[in-house]
Amino acid sequence: MKCPGCYAYDAAHLGGGQTLRDLNDRRGQSLVDGVLEVVDRLKPLHLSIVGGDPLVRFRELELMIPPLLSRGTHVQIVTSAFRKMDPTWANLERLHIVVSIDGLQPEHDARRAPATYDRILKNIAGQRVTVHCTVTGQMMKRPKYLAEFLEFWTPRPEIKKVWFSLFTPQVGDQMPEILSPDERQQAIADMMQLRKQYPKLDLPEAVIRQFASPPHSPQDCVFALTTQTLSADLETLITPCQFGGNPDCASCGCIASMGLAAVAAHKLGGILSVGTIFRASIKIGQNRAKSRERLARKLQTNDPLRILPEKQASCGSLEQGPK
Ligand code: SF4
Repeated sequence: MKCPGCYAYDAAHLGGGQTLRDLNDRRGQSLVDGVLEVVDRLKPLHLSIVGGDPLVRFRELELMIPPLLSRGTHVQIVTSAFRKMDPTWANLERLHIVVSIDGLQPEHDARRAPATYDRILKNIAGQRVTVHCTVTGQMMKRPKYLAEFLEFWTPRPEIKKVWFSLFTPQVGDQMPEILSPDERQQAIADMMQLRKQYPKLDLPEAVIRQFASPPHSPQDCVFALTTQTLSADLETLITPCQFGGNPDCASCGCIASMGLAAVAAHKLGGILSVGTIFRASIKIGQNRAKSRERLARKLQTNDPLRILPEKQASCGSLEQGPK
């Protein structure tokens, strides 16, 4: 598949030099074991499995989902729903299926074939899914586009909720998908209005407000600071966030980033924002990590038996890891 607007296979996605196609993706049992190993090591509260399309590896998904859920992790699968999903997924607590839909049928089908509307409707039958639509400049050129989208999707019993993101470009991009400042304002006003008419539109006002003032940079983005994106070789990190490359934060429209920014903007006791506490905590964590690295380097360059206090210099009393 090569969907217009997809950022994952861009030349700069991994920072230049190599692309996702150059990586040695894990498959089969090696992928299942590798994902479980990463989760056991990093202990994330939430794991989002995105594409390409994760359903390309549906056999591996079917194997890894039960053990992932049994670890207490919330698992989100972001898919185009180009194929049917395991019917048992509909009832699994902590499993969230998000179906990416690029606008109304004519626009979506042109961009996303073979994952057309007809196919999505067949493939999500019996499931409980969230619809996610990335709003583009083209959509905002047509009045009431978002309302028509909600009108189509929200009455369906398979649809639990609907999310909107705004298209996020890379720095310097010139593309029709990019919203002009007026279109961005209009999208924000539309979402504010539509959330009252369509309860399945799961966008609290505080989150919608964040679309008007996105983070200035990845260092300012709570989402980028609290998440880690790993490619399918389970080694290559995608930075600074899931968009990779050099994303234009000032035009960011990622719902996840806006959601966490809204949490960070919340003031505890009306005085101190959660973000202030969070950033201070990150700083402390980074300083501690640097101290640990310095200590580890020192230990490597010295004879450990010389720098340990005499009474600890035996196997029985040596504690693992620096304090
Ligand atoms: S999620 Fe948005 S604001 Fe955060 S680093 Fe990525 S592009 Fe920038």
